[in-house]
Order: sequence, then C-alpha cells, then structure tokens
Amino acid sequence: MQVQDVVVAWGRILTGRAPLLSIEITRECPLHCPGCYAYGESHLAGEAQLKDLTDFKGDELVRRVLALVDRHKPLHVSLVGGEPLMRKRELDQILPALSRRRIFTMLVTSGVIPLPAEWSDLPRVTIAVSIDGLPEHHNVRRAPATYERILRNAGEIRHNVHLTITRPMVQDDAYLDGYMNFWSGRANVRNIWTSVYTPQRGEQSPEMLTPAERERLGETLVQLAAKYPKMLMRPGVARAYVEPPENPRECTFAKMSVNYTADLKTRVEPCIFGGDPDCSQCGCAVSAGFHWMGNLPVKGPLNMRHIVNSSVAIGSVLGRFRPGFRELRWNDKKPVQSITDSPLVQIAKAATAPDDRRAS
Ligand code: SF4
Ligand code: SF4
Repeated sequence: MQVQDVVVAWGRILTGRAPLLSIEITRECPLHCPGCYAYGESHLAGEAQLKDLTDFKGDELVRRVLALVDRHKPLHVSLVGGEPLMRKRELDQILPALSRRRIFTMLVTSGVIPLPAEWSDLPRVTIAVSIDGLPEHHNVRRAPATYERILRNAGEIRHNVHLTITRPMVQDDAYLDGYMNFWSGRANVRNIWTSVYTPQRGEQSPEMLTPAERERLGETLVQLAAKYPKMLMRPGVARAYVEPPENPRECTFAKMSVNYTADLKTRVEPCIFGGDPDCSQCGCAVSAGFHWMGNLPVKGPLNMRHIVNSSVAIGSVLGRFRPGFRELRWNDKKPVQSITDSPLVQIAKAATAPDDRRAS
C-alpha cells in the first residue's frame, strides 16, 4: 500500500465509508477446528448461526459480492469463510474483477483445497494460508488440512502464512522458533504473520494465554522477527498484544472495517470475531497494527488515534448527505459524536485560542 492509497482511505473515512471490508463468502467448511469463532453460537449476536444461513453460489454469488464491494467502495477486501475455496469457480471471476477495480484483496484459506496458481499472479491479490502450529498441533486441530496436504496443495504457489498462537505453543521457547524456521525456509512463502487466540468474554478454554504468557510472548515475537525477516512484526505491534484496546469503541480496526456473513446482508459485529469478544485479550493482528499506529505521535499532544477518531466523527455526519448512506461502521448505540466534540477539533481549538482563553 502506498501514500496515495492512505490518502484515498482517509478520503473514504471522511465521507462515512469504511476502508476495510470482510466477507464470509460461504458457510461451508470441511474442517471442524476447535475454537473456530465463525461457527461459534454467538458469532452473529445469537440471531442465527453461520451454518444455518442461506448462502449463494454461481453467478448469483459473483454478482452479489461485487455489488457489495461497489456499494462500500473499500480499499481492501478480505474473503474468508467457512472455507472460501468451496467457491473456487466463483472466485475465478471475483478475484480478477477486484484486481481490475484496483482493490487489495486477501483470500484466507485452510489450504485443504489446491490453490490455483493463476490467483497468486493477480496484482493486489494475496493468498493467506492458516497454519496453526507445528504438525503435532496443527494436524490434530485442522484435519484434514494437514501439513502434508497444505504442502501438496500449495506446491510452488506464492502465499503468506498466518498463525494463530494458542496456549500450548508458548509452553516451550523452541516451539515458535521451529515454526518460523520451517515456514520462512520455504521459497514460495512471502510473509508470515501471527495472531493470538482471542476469546469471547467469560470464555475459559485451553487455547487462551495467561497475562504472564502474553507478556513473555510479546518479547519472543520481537526476537523472532529479528531472526526471521519474513515475519511481519514490530515491537509496537507486539506490545499491542499485551495492551490491546479496552473495548470496541477504542478499537481503530472496528471503526475502520465492516464485515458481512454468508447471506451477504447480516453484519458481523463489532469486528471479524463477532459476538462479544474479550478485547482485553484481543490477539487480532490487524487490530494490533492499528492500535500501534494509533499511538504514533503526529504533533504535540496529537496522535494518529485523534486524527482517526475525528475523521470517523466527521464521516458519520457528512455521510448522511450522501444518497443511500447507511451507517457503515460498528454502532456502539451511543449518540453520534459531534464534530466539535472530536479530539482533533478540541486540540485545534486549544492550539489556536488566544492566550487569555487558553488560561481559563
Ligand atoms: S477452517 Fe476456518 S472456518 Fe473452517 S472450521 Fe476451521 S477456523 Fe472455522
Ligand atoms: S478486533 Fe477490536 S473489537 Fe475485536 S476483539 Fe480485538 S479489540 Fe475488540
């Protein structure tokens, strides 16, 4: 993504659009991973479950997905599932169409179905394969998408690797090193990025890390990134896993994204996890990246989060003048923040106020 893309994204926010769009393009998946949030009971706020929805196939799916994209005009689209490659024939049309629209697209797959080589050559299209740990864990959790099958299905096709770190993986210091060593050693793996398992509020599960384990993991990830350049990790992002946003209202990612499930009309809120995620244990890589960026200073007391929050407030007001406008971002049921209450305007007011007013 380049500077002009960031400018375009900011322009979209100022007109009430979310720059990130995620679509669960099918409810079908041949895997039954423990801890899968997509099939969790609370994923769609208890109104329905992914497995019960009506989803689409063939030309109708292609038409509906592209219509959704054209309506939201995002800068980046994530295509997830279920297993998106269950709709491979449709993706043969959807991915080139998104590429022609100059939209960045990430397809997230388990690798259980062979990856089409031609997709990885499409400009702005990235294939990410979820590989959750070394074979002794991954092959049990994600059968039938075993290491052997992923290696066969990916062949020499260029792709990224995504790891969700769960508690068993942080019990031995050598574990994550062994994982990075294996996958970064493969010539066709471009980048590796990591998330940490994110529970729902009140959940008690063997995947969850303790606070002490998260603290130590933050340090380990920074050390691993120095050793394995394919790993996408910065110290500030690793820190965001230890001190994530307190709630969705504080989460820049939740404000910048809109997510749909397989009926292409039900929203997944407040973020891709749906339900009632425990933000205090958030391990989402994208949210951590935004959280880190939000803390970057701009000038004086102003940081990136002030700018984003102000832009979102402005966009939610100005967007109402656009025909067909519908609130695109997560609605926390609070009254819309007025532009004049936004931190950016408050700081600008303070900076430009005459000295006598500043003193009062
Ligand atoms: S592959 Fe993804 S959607 Fe399918 S069961 Fe596993 S985590 Fe859930
Ligand atoms: S992505 Fe944001 S809203 Fe979702 S769990 Fe993480 S911090 Fe909370």
